[in-house]
Amino acid sequence: MTQYNQVTPELIAALREISGDRVIVGSDVNPDYARDEMPIYGTRMPDVSIDVLTTEEISAIMKLCYENNVPVTCRGAGTGLVGACTPMAGGVVLCTMRMKQILGYDEDNFVVRVQPGVLLNDLAEDALTRGLLYPPDPGEKFATLGGNVATNAGGMRAVKYGATRDYVRAMTVVLPTGEVVRMGATVSKTSSGYSLMNLMIGSEGTLGIITELTLKLIPAPKYAASLICPFEDLRTCISAVPMFKKAHMNPQAIEFFEKEILVSSEEYLGKSVFPRSICGTEIGAYLLVTFDANSQEELDKLIEQGAELVVEADALDVLVADTPAKFKDAWAARSSFLEGIEEQTTLLDECDVVVPVSKIPEFVDYIKEIDGEFDFDIKSFGHAGDGNLHVYTCSNDMERDEFVRQVDQFMRKIYARATELGGLISGEHGIGMGKVDYLAESVGPVNMRLMEGVKRVFDPKMILNPGKVCYKL
Ligand SMILES: Cc1cc2nc3c(=O)[nH]c(=O)nc-3n(C[C@H](O)[C@H](O)[C@H](O)COP(=O)(O)OP(=O)(O)OC[C@H]3O[C@@H](n4cnc5c(N)ncnc54)[C@H](O)[C@@H]3O)c2cc1C
Repeated sequence: MTQYNQVTPELIAALREISGDRVIVGSDVNPDYARDEMPIYGTRMPDVSIDVLTTEEISAIMKLCYENNVPVTCRGAGTGLVGACTPMAGGVVLCTMRMKQILGYDEDNFVVRVQPGVLLNDLAEDALTRGLLYPPDPGEKFATLGGNVATNAGGMRAVKYGATRDYVRAMTVVLPTGEVVRMGATVSKTSSGYSLMNLMIGSEGTLGIITELTLKLIPAPKYAASLICPFEDLRTCISAVPMFKKAHMNPQAIEFFEKEILVSSEEYLGKSVFPRSICGTEIGAYLLVTFDANSQEELDKLIEQGAELVVEADALDVLVADTPAKFKDAWAARSSFLEGIEEQTTLLDECDVVVPVSKIPEFVDYIKEIDGEFDFDIKSFGHAGDGNLHVYTCSNDMERDEFVRQVDQFMRKIYARATELGGLISGEHGIGMGKVDYLAESVGPVNMRLMEGVKRVFDPKMILNPGKVCYKL
């Protein structure tokens, strides 16, 4: 195991020369910096935190920590779900939330330059005022763009527009040694050697710190509407999903969820939009499908065709959310699933497995089959259109150790099944420190050796975000 040095008073003094009174030490450090949204994987307070402001500052800090062999962990908004920004080796946490400037649009080339701490929500809203869309749309709108790129965040619109990776053109990176490097360019294609930029995307802050991003934008579609499709059970609901692609339709989003999750979310929001039963038949699960288009006529056709399709697939009904208010309400319920579950649950874990779309019904059947073997409740929802399922394990009455033990057994089973079905263990949340063992089981020792080798090239002393993705502390 790598041995790190302690943060000394001399190092703190040197850090203060770089960052002044933004260097926070010991018990004055914000306790949020000890964790992300999934503390079940472990928490640890850093010795020092710094809310950084510039590339040059980060470079100077990294040089100092590299020379002194002190671990550093970068964080954005801390909304991650795999413990990726938790500073498990202590040391220094750098938070990018104050690097929140949109630096400028280049509308000839359809790109925008941003600092890494800009919130997804802020860029999305600002781009729309220019008629432009930043397509990645993960559920948490108050995550940073740096965090989104570092996790290759996916989200609702990935089924049509792709994930964050597809919208990164260039970036500035501070390496663990403190060297500053530019990767990528404002070009739409490249065959210029190994794509180091693509290694950075999804590397969860283990290879370097992103200090500036150039992101691709597209013209915003002018019209959008959603279909709310209730089904009697999850199997029937999920089986409808591949029909959209087979019919050569191209929805912007296809989300699925079970009723229990919707109820928690609507209770959390204090507003009920989705029906709970239709003509006396209890609803078990829903699809929420969005279409976008550049004319009202084109959108109307898509909505009509989509509605016919789900009725053929045994939906109990189809409701159209075609006004801004109805659209907003339907998606507010979808966006609050995690908050709804969190509010009602003391012990919580989740997985974010991804399988080929055609295999979703088999995977869901498997979860139902093993459900009875465990003492926790299982709640599922996810981005059905791209095969990315979020399975939550929840308990209010189990002992913590027993919960963790049973969840581990459950996760091993469902990851093994997903791998057999041709899937992978994370579609968008990443590996962090919570999923390292499962990744190793799924991709095998050669892949893990290559990943650790890449890590060592970028970070010879292994000081940046130790114990994440490809090796454990
Ligand atoms: C309610 C809710 C809904 C969510 N929905 C989705 C969803 O639909 N899709 C999805 O993909 N995720 C989702 N997430 C997870 C989370 O929002 C994403 O992983 C997000 O990308 C994390 O961004 P952050 O700024 O919070 O990063 P953090 O949690 O602070 O950090 C995440 C990782 O990124 C690294 N990092 C952060 N900034 C930088 C940087 N500048 N340079 C290098 N590394 C950096 C950190 O070291 C860490 O490894 C959801 C989370 C919540 C709470």
